[in-house]
Amino acid sequence: MLPLVALVGRPNVGKSTLFNALTRTRDALVHDQPGVTRDRHYGVCRPEDQRHFAVVDTGGIAGEDEGLAGATTRQARAAAEEADLVLFIVDGREGASRLDDDILAWLRKTARPTFLVVNKTDGLDSHAALNEFARYGFSDVIAVSSAHRQGIDELIEQVLAKLPEDGDAAQLDNDPSRIRVAFIGRPNVGKSTLVNRLLGEERMIASDIPGTTRDSVAIDMERDGRLYRLIDTAGLRRKSRVDEAVEKFSIIKTLHAIEQCQVAVVMLDATEGVTDQDASVLGYALDAGRALVIAINKWDGLSDYQRQQTESLLSRKLAFVSWAEAVRISATHGSGLRELFAAVHRAHASATHEFSTSEVTQAMEVAYEANPPPVVRGHVAKLRYAHPAASNPPTFVIHGTRLRTLTDSYKRYLENFFRKRFKLVGTPVRFIFKEGS
Ligand code: GDP
Ligand code: GDP
Repeated sequence: MLPLVALVGRPNVGKSTLFNALTRTRDALVHDQPGVTRDRHYGVCRPEDQRHFAVVDTGGIAGEDEGLAGATTRQARAAAEEADLVLFIVDGREGASRLDDDILAWLRKTARPTFLVVNKTDGLDSHAALNEFARYGFSDVIAVSSAHRQGIDELIEQVLAKLPEDGDAAQLDNDPSRIRVAFIGRPNVGKSTLVNRLLGEERMIASDIPGTTRDSVAIDMERDGRLYRLIDTAGLRRKSRVDEAVEKFSIIKTLHAIEQCQVAVVMLDATEGVTDQDASVLGYALDAGRALVIAINKWDGLSDYQRQQTESLLSRKLAFVSWAEAVRISATHGSGLRELFAAVHRAHASATHEFSTSEVTQAMEVAYEANPPPVVRGHVAKLRYAHPAASNPPTFVIHGTRLRTLTDSYKRYLENFFRKRFKLVGTPVRFIFKEGS
């Protein structure tokens, strides 16, 4: 599983600022698009070449204007109690307060490993700021400024050093002949129905894939002569009838499944449209840069009129991921599944395609000549050359000058141009702009 780090602290100490500093994707374009829910309390910190970990902002869960009652509401408390590590955030400007003392007393009772983070130390003497909290008796302390990203890399280092060893799940071997697919979505959209249908009702949901644990389930499947590995979805877990009723939507398991898959199939319930919870699930998949297919389930339950209405609603609500294919299915009837898997294949092929430097530079040149960047305050960006940097998602580096003046709309133009030219469907596309030659 992804280890979980909980941010705990009284209101206004900078939890959400720190949350953003830890989890923000480099992909600003994604975040600026309407439809992507900003109001997400879970995120994943992805330090380069190091272990990823999930972060939960418990303040966000508890709500905004809260006293200790809020800070310790059930959800926030539960999040902190299940965390592998708690970051106790305090305000270096205001110093220790009664509320901090109360939270600390409660944290001691939870007995989770805790790290004291003294925030807002920009422009302060950090020794003095740390001293102010010396009486709390932490051996693990750090002074940071979340707003200015000072000390954040060091904090990430320290967090990584404190997290428990990687469990068995990490060894889940990645057989390259299989496409790793995760069916994700909020409760009741039909994940289990679909997965059971795919696997055959009678089949035991168990697996001897190395690394499979109770918390992390994967199962191999063949369909139309192609090989898949279905990753850790709620549908894969065998639920007793009782569990089924009480099982709560586990965001952390969803995040884990997204991390491990190559293609995320986000399931929606056609009879309910796109709810906020659906939009967050989509947002998590986007943050991870995953190839994406949207399965609109329960299509059987709609009349012709409702289908028309639903089509137009979905195309509006899903405009922010218009590059993802949306497939109408019925898990109960098994219809649309061939199209669903064809879309999974297209998304996977686009996401993992290997590009040559010359074709990427050529694409950039054609795009640039057809439509040069606009002049912004007397400056105009020049694009010089480009090369591929990574796949899954396809990532292109563009070198040039005055690239900071490139507008979001120009970046979108480049993205759309590349999508069209390389026939990329079902995958995010990323650009990295590098100043100079
Ligand atoms: P939360 O209620 O704990 O989530 O706190 P927020 O992240 O909303 O931050 C509360 C206020 O503190 C905001 O006005 C932030 O801009 C400010 N803030 C957060 N981090 C820092 C920091 O590192 N330095 C300074 N000077 N201000 C900060
Ligand atoms: P999960 O929580 O996402 O795993 O959802 P389930 O697979 O448990 O399905 C939730 C409910 O939706 C159940 O009552 C299913 O019978 C129903 N359901 C699932 N798929 C379909 C479908 O394609 N059409 C219709 N009409 N109902 C469905």
